[in-house]
Amino acid sequence: MSEHALKPGVVTGKGYTTLVEAAKSGGYALPAVNVVSTNSLNAVMEAAAKAQSDIIIQLSNSGAAFFAGAGMTDGFKAKVLGAVAAARHAHLLAEHYGVCVVMHTDHANRELIPWVEAMLDEGEKFHARYGKPLYSSHMLDLSADSIDFNLDECARILERMAKMDMSLEIELGVTGGEEDGMGSEFEESADNSRLYTQPEDVLQAYDRLNPLGHFSVAASFGNVHGVYKPGNVKLRPEILKNSQDLVQKSHGTGHNPLHLVFHGGSGSEKDKIKAAVSYGVFKMNIDTDTQFAFSEPIGSYVSNNQRAFRFQVDPEDGTPYKKAYDPRKYLRAGELGIVKRLQEACEDLGSKGRSIARN
Ligand SMILES: [Zn+2]
Repeated sequence: MSEHALKPGVVTGKGYTTLVEAAKSGGYALPAVNVVSTNSLNAVMEAAAKAQSDIIIQLSNSGAAFFAGAGMTDGFKAKVLGAVAAARHAHLLAEHYGVCVVMHTDHANRELIPWVEAMLDEGEKFHARYGKPLYSSHMLDLSADSIDFNLDECARILERMAKMDMSLEIELGVTGGEEDGMGSEFEESADNSRLYTQPEDVLQAYDRLNPLGHFSVAASFGNVHGVYKPGNVKLRPEILKNSQDLVQKSHGTGHNPLHLVFHGGSGSEKDKIKAAVSYGVFKMNIDTDTQFAFSEPIGSYVSNNQRAFRFQVDPEDGTPYKKAYDPRKYLRAGELGIVKRLQEACEDLGSKGRSIARN
């Protein structure tokens, strides 16, 4: 059992850093699952409770907009308010699932800096009222820009977040593939070195950001967003170790000083995941796999109940279909798909049975 212990619920500030340290020292990582609705958000909390694992819940900008409602006419407002609604939903319910929940927002590129800033406006209001942050952490992905612009902006945003004890996730290097329209398309002809983060860049980020506040780094070590043809890029987790070693040597820190995150993890080989976790990865993004896990059982349900999706009452034999077309039936099937898929993820990442939540 871990020597760390936290109250169940959304963890922020010192609770968040305790959770990160518990994972790193315990040799496991937490799944970070994208959600778009109360259905997926509740399913992820249910999955975590079932696995007795702590969990990271995240929203992309479009996931947040969907959470607010795809029909909202002001798209920017929807991205902000949807993120607020999702976090408030988790603050209210997470403790009742008995595990620790990190609330996080996913990839925000240069165009989305105003989204992050607007969420911080809301976060500051929440903090003033409740004495804790609305979100545990946000992400800025400026990996498509120069490293100077990337680190300047990250430093500016982190200074603001640190006042509320929030953490910032940054991205260095280019992770191939596409996630929610973010990231760059993988090309076989792409300059290979750009697919692997350079340890010198990671050291530069550490020099710049560590004095300002808590941050984590998504480094590319051959990972690709979304599901891709295997064999295109080779996962090289030792790149992470090289970055850890360089920072440790330059700053005389302890083992694995960096808090690392693994993007584009869907479909990775299990031994590579294990190696990455041993090099200080505490968070692994899982999006594509849980989308399919939600949709696949709904597809089965619909094909097994086809007439219920065409008629309220069967015109041929008068069978009433109310029980079958009740949306809770198929939405629940989707939720259970997520719960099932995440049991595997918690096992792969070693987080199963390791929740540090104690009442
Ligand atoms: Zn990424």
